[in-house]
Amino acid sequence: MSLGFSRIDEYEARQQITAICRRMYERGLIAGCEGNVSVLLSPGKILITPSGVNKGYLKPEQLVAIDDEGQTKRRDLKASSEFRLHTVAYDTRKDCRAVLHAHPPFAIALTIANLPISQDLIPESVVSLGRVPTALYATPSTPELADGVAELLVDHDIVMMARHGSVCIGTDLVSAFDRLESLEHTAKITFIARSLGPVNPLSPIEVARLQSMGGHPQSAFSAAEREEALIQEIVAELMKRK
Ligand SMILES: [Zn+2]
Repeated sequence: MSLGFSRIDEYEARQQITAICRRMYERGLIAGCEGNVSVLLSPGKILITPSGVNKGYLKPEQLVAIDDEGQTKRRDLKASSEFRLHTVAYDTRKDCRAVLHAHPPFAIALTIANLPISQDLIPESVVSLGRVPTALYATPSTPELADGVAELLVDHDIVMMARHGSVCIGTDLVSAFDRLESLEHTAKITFIARSLGPVNPLSPIEVARLQSMGGHPQSAFSAAEREEALIQEIVAELMKRK
């Protein structure tokens, strides 16, 4: 069965990107001229935010249409210098229709401290976030950075770039933004919990239970660990009945 290609109207895409950019700016997920957002309009045609424009005040007509190589016909505005993060995402994941790159402060702080964004501290993260990998540091806007992210996007919808920011993808802008919001919320809770003292993760048994209730397929625990935890729980239950 072919996935086909669900086209989004360019006018609608311009409105949606502008609204998402404003939301990212207002929630402190980007600042100044940071961050970039794109939508795949059709194969080889990407609508992306321009370079050097504050996304909090972005206008729909300022968005730039580019091809696979980042080229645009516009002379007044250049595409984001991070366009490669977007082109590799669409190349790598054929289900991807929207890409958000942001600079979420708590999530970035954890990468600087070399700490994981803990998926196993709160149930919501197990259910909606999955494991978030971090790409090694590379200079922003370089092909090396994009290649490191592309490798991780094969199996993940959210990737952190060390000391830099996040890349969230989705089948539409809203699902990509939900991932960004959950990522930063979880990073904030992780940061606060760690600042209060040692953190106590959920048990593998509880993570397995959440997984069985439809949790995110990318668990902090391996399938073998979750299976083992469930077996232990069944054995414990049988022992109680004796
Ligand atoms: Zn950036």
